[in-house]
Amino acid sequence: MILTQLLQGEPYNLQKQEKQPILLEGLNELNAWHHQNCTEYSNLLDAIGMEPPWYTKSVTETPYLTVPLFKQLELKSISEEDVFKVLHSSGTTGQTPSRIFLDRDTAALQSKTLVRIMQHWLGKPRRPMLILDHPGVIKDRQAFTARGAGIQGISFMGRNHCYALHEDMSLNLEAIIKFEQAHSHEPVLMFGFTFMVWVYFLQALQKEGIKLNFPKGFLLHSGGWKKLQDQSVDNSTFKQEAQQLLGLNAVHNFYGMVEQIGSIFVECEEGHLHTPAYADVLVREPGSWKVLNTGQTGLLQLVSLIPKSYPGHSLLTEDLGKILGEDSCPCGRAGKYFLVEGRMKRTEVRGCSDTYNVPT
Ligand SMILES: [Zn+2]
Repeated sequence: MILTQLLQGEPYNLQKQEKQPILLEGLNELNAWHHQNCTEYSNLLDAIGMEPPWYTKSVTETPYLTVPLFKQLELKSISEEDVFKVLHSSGTTGQTPSRIFLDRDTAALQSKTLVRIMQHWLGKPRRPMLILDHPGVIKDRQAFTARGAGIQGISFMGRNHCYALHEDMSLNLEAIIKFEQAHSHEPVLMFGFTFMVWVYFLQALQKEGIKLNFPKGFLLHSGGWKKLQDQSVDNSTFKQEAQQLLGLNAVHNFYGMVEQIGSIFVECEEGHLHTPAYADVLVREPGSWKVLNTGQTGLLQLVSLIPKSYPGHSLLTEDLGKILGEDSCPCGRAGKYFLVEGRMKRTEVRGCSDTYNVPT
């Protein structure tokens, strides 16, 4: 399988000419697989008139599902007995969360991909890890929330795990200070969800007048910016505050979603999100659904070679963003690099059909 070969290599060294045919072949294989194994998916392909052998000639022609579809339908390409884990999106009140069905193989592939990507940024040895959340968040192993799944996924990269917060989201100062005393001068990993990190960790440290010292620390954070933008906190403010309060340099956001966990897009030193070899991003114009050019803002479509147990290999998200370039980021990594610029309003997303779209 193509993905197995890709996983032998580095995540950011495939140039466009090499990457596009590999992606296309992998996506075509997945189209055929899901058509054969997921009734709802095959109905959708039939409805748009796609016929065997399901081969499209370019990645842009790959059919895509919209993310809300995973809230409405039980989409899986495996039998009930093979379901190993069900992931749930966090979902706001009154909304059904997405349900993502994983078998052992897909779950293993997701962890492996995540590890390959994160090792690029953190190096191979596991780092002492400060989890910027409370321990209760991963307790329910049957029905992981996006937060729990994210923390569990990234925890693979760490050792000597320490939770920075109590169950009531207050600072666990005793644990934090102990962690600092033990690991201050080693390379450590800190991870949490952007909004939680800002409100319950950084702001709380500031209120207490505490500055930590982790000169070799790496703060990784993920999650939407909307709630922070409401408080006028942007990426550079977040970064500066984190650097100052934690005594570290490396602060990296990553973009990803539970519907396509494993293919995450990590922010480089230039502030750009990078596509790894196993995934790619396209931007579509809302309404016409045409693929937009570099620099034009539209809805992000994510393609990934990982989802095999459910048809999540090509998804139109509700996030707005733009591609900045390909193979040309000053940081030297190959692949497309992009920005996420916000979320489309729900009413506008509804206009993009609640089911699927015919590729153009
Ligand atoms: Zn870069």
